[in-house]
Amino acid sequence: MTVEATPGDVRPITVIAGDGIGPEVVRAAMRVVEASGARVCWEECEAGARVFQKGLATGVPPETIESIRRTRVVLKGPLETPVGYGEKSANVTLRKLFETYGNIRPARELPGVVTPFHGRGVDLVVIRENVEDLYAGIEHLQTPGVAQCLKLMSQVGCEKIVRLAFEFARADGRRSVHCATKANIMKLTEGLLQRTFERIAPEYPDITAKHILIDNCAHQLVRHPEQFEVIVTSNMNGDILSDLTSGLIGGLGLAPSANIGNEVAMFEAVHGSAPDIAGRNVANPTAMILSAVLMLRHIGAFDAAARIKRAVLLTLEQGVHTADIAAPGHRAVSTTEFADAVIGNLGKESPNWHMREWRPLRLPDASSLRQPALPTHRRVIGADVFVEWRGTAEALGGQLEALVEGTPLRLKMVSNRGTRVYPPTGALTDCVDHWRCRFVLRSVEGTLEDALLLSLLQRLSAQLRWMHVEKLQEFDGEPAFTRAQGED
Ligand code: NAP
Repeated sequence: MTVEATPGDVRPITVIAGDGIGPEVVRAAMRVVEASGARVCWEECEAGARVFQKGLATGVPPETIESIRRTRVVLKGPLETPVGYGEKSANVTLRKLFETYGNIRPARELPGVVTPFHGRGVDLVVIRENVEDLYAGIEHLQTPGVAQCLKLMSQVGCEKIVRLAFEFARADGRRSVHCATKANIMKLTEGLLQRTFERIAPEYPDITAKHILIDNCAHQLVRHPEQFEVIVTSNMNGDILSDLTSGLIGGLGLAPSANIGNEVAMFEAVHGSAPDIAGRNVANPTAMILSAVLMLRHIGAFDAAARIKRAVLLTLEQGVHTADIAAPGHRAVSTTEFADAVIGNLGKESPNWHMREWRPLRLPDASSLRQPALPTHRRVIGADVFVEWRGTAEALGGQLEALVEGTPLRLKMVSNRGTRVYPPTGALTDCVDHWRCRFVLRSVEGTLEDALLLSLLQRLSAQLRWMHVEKLQEFDGEPAFTRAQGED
């Protein structure tokens, strides 16, 4: 790790060159930042493939963590997760370690970059929740034939990302925010994001707030991308949608991003390590340079950020293009030539392209986030027990009915991959070896005590292999679970 002297108010930045094309594009961005006059110095640290190869399973060494704790700002190249060394992605480790919960991915039409959407005025930002949802990485192979990934979304997590989206919209002079969810299907998880968005929107009367289903959002982005300004969404939806929006403006080589947390912010290109073009000095450094622009804004170096942004726009408009965006028959420049051209254009500006005015981003105050209200009354009305079974639904249902006969519990239904199959509904469900057996109290009063649940499991385990139990709770009379398809 290199730590340079920091005279006066020079801002130290942790730099991670990363893997594949990372060192080439990060070096280009560092050269441009240095030439812009920004008062920064670099602490160069390692993470990613080489760290995994040294045998560190997280891919992030303690010196790097220490540097980030100190500087709080990271300029980061792409990191690979090599198969066979570490199980977890070093990227995800970094995001989780520093709770960088908000991923900001702007996609704006760029001068001189011809795409099918050129001239439509695409200028939008995807704000993606960055630490929860399916990417919490909690997975189990529950039976030999069925895998599960937990989709965890919290009220506080939803509130943070929604507030960040509205605050970003204000800082960036935007007038509308769309919240894209799949709340029609996942009513409790994606629905939480929609409900949180609708609760908080009135606090921002200057901004138009609209909910949109994620599938329609993807469709609308291709049909009329110009209608969107800011889109806030959950982790996986945002991952996919923001690669789509990068495609609208010319590809991954052009798309920057910021990972924002209350304490630490990390700035990186959306693209990965592109091993196919690594080490050849051909990668497009635009995404990385524009990520450095976001970083400079974040630390308040607005003048340097604006100088670099204007120089990048002018360079692209002049037709100085790397191979990924060069028009057929035009000479493509190298990574270093592109950076040289941007440096040569610092202080110049195209009359055709204007930058939006930027105000400092006010981060949501973590201490004022609404904690979930505790229910006055809780009741456990039953339990879902998940079992492995290779027979028919009728045989399993019959066996379970006999098991609970004469007890305070009854079998309400059995479902297979979310569809009720017992008692039969007539649905033509292809059943796999993973069954959910829903037991409920016969009485409409009282609560299912643990002792009763444990005795059910004990009796059940004598006949069947169970691997998972979920209590069916009611909070203040409201069910805290969903019904199966076909369940009454
Ligand atoms: P990728 O590295 O983004 O590359 C996909 C393709 O996009 C490349 O083969 C290249 O296409 C093109 N490309 C990407 N960046 C470019 C640039 N700056 N200039 C020119 N062309 C560029 O995606 P991947 O191949 O799926 O992932 C490779 C590795 O990166 C994986 O290990 C993945 O886990 C990792 N990754 C890391 C991050 C991160 O650190 N944030 C993000 C994504 C992926 P051509 O074939 O046209 O040259």
